[in-house]
Order: sequence, then C-alpha cells, then structure tokens
Amino acid sequence: MNGGAGTLLVCATPIGNLGDVTLRVLDALRTADAIAAEDTRVTRKLLSRYEIHTPLEAYHEHNRQARTPEIVGRIERGERIALVSDAGTPGISDPGAHLVDACLDAGLRVEVLPGPSAIVTALVASGLPTDAFYFGGFLPRKPGERARALERLAQLDATLVFYESPGRTPATLVSLAESFPGRRAALARELTKLHEEVARASVEELAAAMVGRQLKGEVVLLVGPPDAAVQLTIDEDVVRQRLTELEAAGRTRRDAIREVASETGLPRNEVYRISVATSS
Ligand code: SAM
Repeated sequence: MNGGAGTLLVCATPIGNLGDVTLRVLDALRTADAIAAEDTRVTRKLLSRYEIHTPLEAYHEHNRQARTPEIVGRIERGERIALVSDAGTPGISDPGAHLVDACLDAGLRVEVLPGPSAIVTALVASGLPTDAFYFGGFLPRKPGERARALERLAQLDATLVFYESPGRTPATLVSLAESFPGRRAALARELTKLHEEVARASVEELAAAMVGRQLKGEVVLLVGPPDAAVQLTIDEDVVRQRLTELEAAGRTRRDAIREVASETGLPRNEVYRISVATSS
C-alpha cells in the first residue's frame, strides 16, 4: 500500500428517504477532496439537505473508462475521493465496482462506509426466507435469454432477488411465473419513500395483477425458494411414469411436460430434466 496516498471512500447513500444516511458518510462527504457521483443532480439534493459544499464530479457507466485511471492517479497523489451512486451502496449494479477494483489493483486504500441497499431492504420487507438468498441484479431483457438465466436458478434453495425497471416489471413477472410456478413472491416498490408498496402473493398472482399496469418508481422483485415439501416428496420415477401415460394418451412431449409441471408444482424445466434423465 502506498503510504502518501489518499483513500477511496465508498459511501452508501439513501435509497429514497434522505434521513437514511449515516453520520460517518456525512463526515466523509464533507471532508473529502471531491465526490464522484453517478448522477450529480441526485447527489446535489442530498448535499444541499446537509449543507455540504464538496466539489461534485460525474462518474458513471459512460465515462468510467476515461475517469477511472484519472481518479486512481489523484488518490495516488494523496486525494480522498468519496464515491456515491444514485442510491444505495456503490458497486451494487452500478459502475462503482470498477473503481474499487482499480484502486485495489493499484494498492490504494479503499474504505467502505456501509448503509442502505435496496437488496437487503426489499428482502427483509418481503417476509420471504432470508437465511439464504441469491441476488441476480437485472435480468436479461430478451425473453429467451431471461428464461435461460432463470432456468439455471430453478434448483437453488434460496430466495431470489432481482432489480427491475418499472416498465419491464410486468414482462419479467410473467417470465418468473413461467419458470417458478407456485412459488411465493413479492414486489417491493418505492422502498423508504412516500408511496412504498410491498405486494406479496404467488408469482402467478403477482404477474396477473401487474400485467397492463403502468408502474412507477423503483422496483425489486423477489421469489421464494422452492417448496421443501415438493422437493422432498417428488419421486422422479412417478414423474416419468406420468409423462409416459400422457404421451401414450396422445399429448406432445411439450404438452405432457406442461401438464405434469402444473399437477406437481415443479418448474417446467425440472420436469424436462427428469424426462431426459435416465431412470435409476
Ligand atoms: N446501488 C444500489 C443499491 O445498493 O441498492 C442499486 C442501484 S441499481 C442501478 C437501481 C435499482 O435498485 C433500481 O432499478 C431498483 O431495482 C433498485 N432500487 C433502488 N432504490 C429502490 C427503492 N427505493 N425501492 C425499490 N427498489 C429500489
């Protein structure tokens, strides 16, 4: 580590309620040489609320390539630079992770000042199991790629947490309902803000309720883990037997899989996996 060097101060900021900022973060923002912000207009509101006059500069997805080496150079020469994102903890689904990585590679000191993040807030607000969870960030926008990404998660015994834009939320919920039928789910919207909403239902019910709705604000989608009872009692031979019966009765392989998924509550891709696996 470089002795005369400064520090990158990774500062978590509120995800909606300006009261959710720590004393330590306020102190860091006040005393830093500069604040690198994902959106200077958003950060300016926080700074003006707390009467902080530190110079603000933009650090975002579109300028990070050029700005990262420049900021690293300034920290090497002794500056203390605070990094903030639009909301929450820098580095989580925003370009902050690149700057942290570059500073660590350069042997510089990085201090993370913890605080709000939409993941943990939504997880706890959802009431879904918290003992194991998987954060999937933003899912792919194309339905096919999204279905493939979800297929890889079907067996995970954990609550799944995704960030999503309000406009894409209905389509993503439909994909979630197709991939994880019967599971509990939650939609957490506008957390810590005036119009905070946490809707809890089965994933199909949530999808049906949101299709056609013009959602506003920020959204986190959550899906509970697979039902332990279904996992434990499912007998793969019984699934294969039922598929054979349905195909013998004239169903296509695809229809038979869909029917068995609906009868058992298993995800379709799981029924497919069983159908192609060799019988034990
Ligand atoms: N770094 C941030 C963090 O730690 O939470 C996340 C940045 S990511 C670009 C923005 C996403 O976070 C939004 O699309 C939304 O999914 C989620 N988010 C942020 N604030 C939220 C809020 N108040 N309520 C619900 N979701 C929120």
